Amino acid sequence: MQPVPQSFQRMITMSLGAAALIGLYLTSLYNYLLFHSLAEIFSILVAAGIFVIAWNSRAYIRNDYLIFVAVAYLYIAGLDLLHTLSYKGMSIFTDYDYYANQLWIAARYLESLSLVAAFYFLVRPGRLNPAIQFFAYGAIFAVIVLSVFTFRIFPVCFVEGEGLTTFKKVSEYIICLILAADMALLARYRDRFEPNVHRWLMWAVGFTIVSELAFTFYISNYGFSNLVGHYFKIFSYYLIYKAIIETGIVRPYDIIFRELVQKERHLEKARKAADVANRAKSEFLANMSHELRTPLNGILGYAQVLKREAGATEAQRAGLDVIDRSGRHLLNLINEILDLSKIEARKMEIMPTEFRLAEFLVGICRIVAVRAQEKGIEFHSHIPPDLPVAVRADEKRLGQVLLNLLSNAVKYTEEGEVLFSVSAIGPPAGEGRGSKWPLRFAVKDTGAGIPAHLIEEIFQPFKQIGEHQRAVEGTGLGLAISRKLARLMGGDIAVQSREGEGSAFHFDLTMEEARPAADPRAPEERAIVGYAGPRKRVLVADDRWENRAFLVNLLTQLGFEVKEAGNGAEVIDMAAAFRPDLIFMDLIMPVIDGFEATRRLRSDPETEGVRIVAVSASHTLSAQDIAREHGLDGFIPK
Ligand code: ADP
Repeated sequence: MQPVPQSFQRMITMSLGAAALIGLYLTSLYNYLLFHSLAEIFSILVAAGIFVIAWNSRAYIRNDYLIFVAVAYLYIAGLDLLHTLSYKGMSIFTDYDYYANQLWIAARYLESLSLVAAFYFLVRPGRLNPAIQFFAYGAIFAVIVLSVFTFRIFPVCFVEGEGLTTFKKVSEYIICLILAADMALLARYRDRFEPNVHRWLMWAVGFTIVSELAFTFYISNYGFSNLVGHYFKIFSYYLIYKAIIETGIVRPYDIIFRELVQKERHLEKARKAADVANRAKSEFLANMSHELRTPLNGILGYAQVLKREAGATEAQRAGLDVIDRSGRHLLNLINEILDLSKIEARKMEIMPTEFRLAEFLVGICRIVAVRAQEKGIEFHSHIPPDLPVAVRADEKRLGQVLLNLLSNAVKYTEEGEVLFSVSAIGPPAGEGRGSKWPLRFAVKDTGAGIPAHLIEEIFQPFKQIGEHQRAVEGTGLGLAISRKLARLMGGDIAVQSREGEGSAFHFDLTMEEARPAADPRAPEERAIVGYAGPRKRVLVADDRWENRAFLVNLLTQLGFEVKEAGNGAEVIDMAAAFRPDLIFMDLIMPVIDGFEATRRLRSDPETEGVRIVAVSASHTLSAQDIAREHGLDGFIPK
């Protein structure tokens, strides 16, 4: 169904309303009794409607005011019904002339007093027991009905031919005063009502006052002021209808769930305030850590200078070491807190640049390889050649995440190896520049591992697990920062681990391929690795394909012509045919090892001049020894 435009809807409502009022007026001219009955039935229906809505939803209405008013209105509707039925001319209760006006005044007293009393329950929620109220009002209703119909002790209000009695007139004024008090209360507690509901209720009570005043004037039950009074009663009930019934049906939450909605708004406000406070805290931390770094750098720098002084004693040197180590740890901690608070203050921006991926990864591997070697564990990396040459990403942050995962792997591994591999976990979306590569950076180690139940906890700030790990230098912030950075970049970090067997972290990130920039290094620098001269040939010998792949990839990208060999025998064969300028020789290989292969190459005049650089993960050999004893030209630790 097409929604009806609001302005159109309003026009229809207004036309219908006007037609109803005119119709009613014409009815009053034709048959006043009919007019009176219609006007009263309208208010009775509205009053009963309020009761039906509120009573049936009382389980979730927390608004005691509304329940109280609703129950009261049921009985007011009852009195108004009796009033209508006993109206002069209805010929139902023919035994006594005064019922109608007595019931009217009783109903208005009950209405105005109930509207005031309801505020007690608005201010003191939880005090109302609807069942008790129901029976109490039943009793009041019975007393009124009995006093009017049975005992006839209710004061007479109107005498045909004489007009209103003093009791009726005074009563109408009293009722007006009570209604005025009700308006004052409505104004006083306006914040407890929905703005629309509040406005309509105010007008409704206002119109009731006018209606009551009109009723103080009439001399005939069929006179003009009676007509005006009933018109205002219709207006008043129409507004009550709008305030409670229409709102209750169209936007029930305004009335029924008002408190809930309001609570939600309060919560939202509180949340926003907390957000602001949290951000202020993060900003403070960010500034603070920045301020701390400056003097700390001074301390560290001066400790370095003192360490180099010749005159220092052993004890002094040891002390300086402590200063240096603790200072670095503190600096690291401050840097990480700075990062974390920057992220939380939403000040950390990802700034993508274009860079060459393989060179970038090799740079990271170099740092890690040094740490692994210092610790006596193997480090292998596998960077396949089919990755995009250049990518667009935040190089600094990517490096930070990868270095953190790799340094952790080295840090928490006492023996065995750390393996770093990069792979595409799906085909790239698009082709060439701008295509998106789903890449996985995986870091596997054979270290301490992480107990299953703590696996998510390690991503929490300051979470460090295990006794032995606490002894290892660390802040417990690295992974928290890494995961947040990974997510800021649009990726994520996951981990699989078994305690005692090692861990496998992977960082998935979709990277945009960029146009490969020219080699950023200076020409002299490039000349060192052979770029400047004619294309040189390199043979990479290693029995592990991961190791070969890494070097082959790197060297190919640097512009060398590269071939691979898996053992010493292959090296000898290929050296004769390929005539490499340089051989990277793994020392421990099957069939013929690197030492033997080198010896044979050196003894063959065809190959004796080739440059051979040993590549080994062995730590028992020193580079010079190897070079001297075996005719090698250099040594690179793996
Ligand atoms: P830390 O500075 O302590 O290394 P991280 O946030 O980087 O802080 O890591 C949190 C904790 O997760 C570490 O203290 C360690 O207990 C555990 N952890 C991280 N990486 C590994 C890993 N590769 N193997 C075993 N435990 C790890």
